[in-house]
Amino acid sequence: MKLVILSRNRNLYSTRRLVEAAEQLGHQAQVIDHLRCYMNIAAHNPQIHYKGQAIEQVDAVIPRIGASVTFYGTAVVRQFEMMGVLTVNESVAISRARDKLRSLQLLARKGIGLPVTGFAHSPDDTDDLINLAGGAPLVLKLLEGTQGRGVVLAETRQAAESVIDAFRGLKVHFLAQEFIKEARGADIRCFVIGDKVVASMLRQAKPGEFRSNLHRGGRAELVKITPEERSIATRAANIIGLDVAGVDILRANHGPVVMEVNSSPGLEGIERATGKDIARMIIEFTQRKIEETRDSPARN
Ligand code: ADP
Ligand code: GLU
Repeated sequence: MKLVILSRNRNLYSTRRLVEAAEQLGHQAQVIDHLRCYMNIAAHNPQIHYKGQAIEQVDAVIPRIGASVTFYGTAVVRQFEMMGVLTVNESVAISRARDKLRSLQLLARKGIGLPVTGFAHSPDDTDDLINLAGGAPLVLKLLEGTQGRGVVLAETRQAAESVIDAFRGLKVHFLAQEFIKEARGADIRCFVIGDKVVASMLRQAKPGEFRSNLHRGGRAELVKITPEERSIATRAANIIGLDVAGVDILRANHGPVVMEVNSSPGLEGIERATGKDIARMIIEFTQRKIEETRDSPARN
């Protein structure tokens, strides 16, 4: 099959690994920078052009869209969908996952366990918002943040009020969230492909830090997840509509809670921690999905 990997940089670990795995399985894989794609929005023969040429006869697209270019990136993915090309993941699911608030609302509606989370507009409601999240200590999160940036632990009510004032002054949206202290700076990344968790790792924050992001100096370790965690991870990915997802879970006293569902989960940390060939699993999944669509085209 002919695959397109949408990625801004062919040298990124995840991009390289996907190309490598595709080629090992006898497929053709072309890396295309989504920001260099341009398109004609037309009912008849919609096309995508790249550096002066139309992109043609693609069997599937694997988007690796960074958070800062979601708007343009998902437009390109949508155009491939208009051309009848299969995409792993679909544009609508990527957009849903990128909106943290919308994702949490969708997950809550389907009964997925979440940290108690509050969202408020008016400064008049700050006091009550802090109460909603269970009082201090609490976590304040910018809705637009990634890699742990814009995630703050406010140890006291006064600290929370100051941070909330600062966020409001900057006119940014944020969430107030119950601090899951018992997770002790660890979270679990479940890598979901289709309806299975294919790999998982525990990320432990460095001493003195509560954020376990690898970009913030966190360490990855092997972990055995419980059947409940497995089930919550696959359900969360399914609710957002993602074929490939990184579901982040915290181990709370009252059971596992989903913190976030990522639509372009990185391969480096998880492949290194588990020794599994996740790239190959993604390509094999894509292949199966193409075959299924061919067998029953009405479903697409
Ligand atoms: P990002 O998307 O920027 O990585 P997250 O919401 O995943 O932001 O938060 C970053 C890290 O902070 C998480 O990996 C986790 O270790 C920690 N964290 C986030 N929210 C909470 C919480 N409510 N309770 C305890 N730790 C949290
Ligand atoms: N970009 C990585 C991922 O989504 C995050 C790694 C980290 O900093 O925890 O898998």
